[in-house]
Parts: sequence; structure tokens; C-alpha cells
Amino acid sequence: MTDCLFCKIVAGDIPADIVYRDDIMTVFKDISPKAPVHLLAVPNHHVESLNDLTEEDAHWVAHITCMLPVIARDNGLTEGFRTVVNTGAGGGQEVYHLHYHILGDVRDANWRGF
Ligand code: 5GP
Ligand code: ZN
Repeated sequence: MTDCLFCKIVAGDIPADIVYRDDIMTVFKDISPKAPVHLLAVPNHHVESLNDLTEEDAHWVAHITCMLPVIARDNGLTEGFRTVVNTGAGGGQEVYHLHYHILGDVRDANWRGF
């Protein structure tokens, strides 16, 4: 999608601190971190939110879900992490390209929450 911030980051048109990338997903640091580690994991293709998923999406959703703990551990979160997915206006979603927040260590953070 041409007018989507995270599509532009995936395409390399807007700079981001990318920590992981494969054929399905890209993970980069949140520009305004709410914890010592705050990453955003996004599908490489445009999907607005969880509201748009169907069973047909199960393969890549499973891939992203299974990669979340791997990426968290690789970024130093060896004692666990928090995953947040904001969906729609009522969920506080600001960027309408599906993304999984990976946050940690929330015990040590001045946690501002969602
Ligand atoms: P949402 O509220 O939609 O769940 O989260 C959007 C997240 O995107 C926020 O945590 C915000 O800090 C982050 N964000 C917004 N603009 C940018 C940007 O240009 N680059 C990066 N890396 N993160 C961004
Ligand atoms: Zn997009």
C-alpha cells in the first residue's frame, strides 16, 4: 500500500532500525519505546489489523507468532516479554498495518502501558 508508514519501512523507503527480516515479516525498533526493548513485528504485505484476518492467513500468522519468542530472545529478553496487538480505534491502534509489539523487560521499565 503506497500510503502506509509500515509498508514504506518494509520497502526501505523510510528508515528504521531493522533487527530481523525474512520473506514473511520484518521486525524493527519502535521509534518511541515504552520499555528498554520495544520492537514492532509486521507482515511484509499490507494487512490493516487483526479484523482483516481469515483462516487463509493462518500460515503467515503462525510464522510471525512462532518467531516472536525467537526475536525476543535474540534481543536480550531471556526472561520473557510482553506482546501487544492494538486493533482498531477502540483498541488504540494508530498505524493501520498489523503489528505485534514486543516489549521487555516491563518489570524494569517506567511502564506507560497501552
Ligand atoms: P499502535 O498504537 O498502532 O499499536 O502502535 C504504533 C506504534 O508505531 C507506536 O508505538 C509508535 O511509537 C510506532 N511508530 C510510529 N511511527 C513510527 C515510525 O516512523 N517508525 C517506527 N520505528 N515506529 C513508529
Ligand atoms: Zn502497510
